[in-house]
Amino acid sequence: MKTCKEFCDNLSDYLDGEMSSDECRLIEDHLAMCPPCALMYECLKTTVSICEKGVSEDMPEDVKERLKVFLRTHCKSDRLKFREE
Ligand SMILES: [Zn+2]
Repeated sequence: MKTCKEFCDNLSDYLDGEMSSDECRLIEDHLAMCPPCALMYECLKTTVSICEKGVSEDMPEDVKERLKVFLRTHCKSDRLKFREE
């Protein structure tokens, strides 16, 4: 995993636990060397865990917006979808 684009393309699978341990290691390698992606990962992990607990309506709008803007500008990828509605 050498680019942020690849990282983003695979991050949702990683968060869903759908990756092999080899693939997980690639994700973790990228996290270790790319602070912006590490930050995004932390934000997404929090978002996902909040959504899974069924309290996503409590997440502040500005936080959701900030995440979306970050993903759009940093990753140029629309593959990561937030679980809204
Ligand atoms: Zn990155």
